[in-house]
Amino acid sequence: MTSISCNHAQKMSNTTDASQDQQETVKYTSVDFPEEVVKIEKTSVEWQAQLDKFDYHVLREAGTERAFSGKFVDNKANGVYTCKACALPLFGSNTKFKSGTGWPSFYQPIRSAYVGENSDNAYGMIRTEVVCARCDGHLGHVFNDGPKPTGLRYCINSASLDFVEED
Ligand SMILES: [Zn+2]
Repeated sequence: MTSISCNHAQKMSNTTDASQDQQETVKYTSVDFPEEVVKIEKTSVEWQAQLDKFDYHVLREAGTERAFSGKFVDNKANGVYTCKACALPLFGSNTKFKSGTGWPSFYQPIRSAYVGENSDNAYGMIRTEVVCARCDGHLGHVFNDGPKPTGLRYCINSASLDFVEED
């Protein structure tokens, strides 16, 4: 990831005051990056009508796809991963890394405001669940054994994601 140097930014400041966030994300033209996340609430019947059976199970019932079964595990294309339920952009391909776990893995979300975290004590494990901040859809879990620069590993189900490829 590159950013404009301070000197350069200074020279440009007469004509623009675009925020850093906008500069980072402007390339994904077909994806909407809301400034503010407004919650989407639907009934389980509405979600069932919109999602296929397995995706519903993962997103709305905190299911987990089998390791190496998801379609984005080995996806190396450039683009942005969005929530399959509400299309909120969640993870960029530039933060995806090969974890060997069998699930798509990222070291940080596109914006921290776009994902939520809940403590999850199911199956006798203490884990941190990751959800979409807009629709509360279950995405996966986050662990502390990821690579630099964050040290985090967002372990995400392919079933929770769509992918918008960037040219
Ligand atoms: Zn969502």
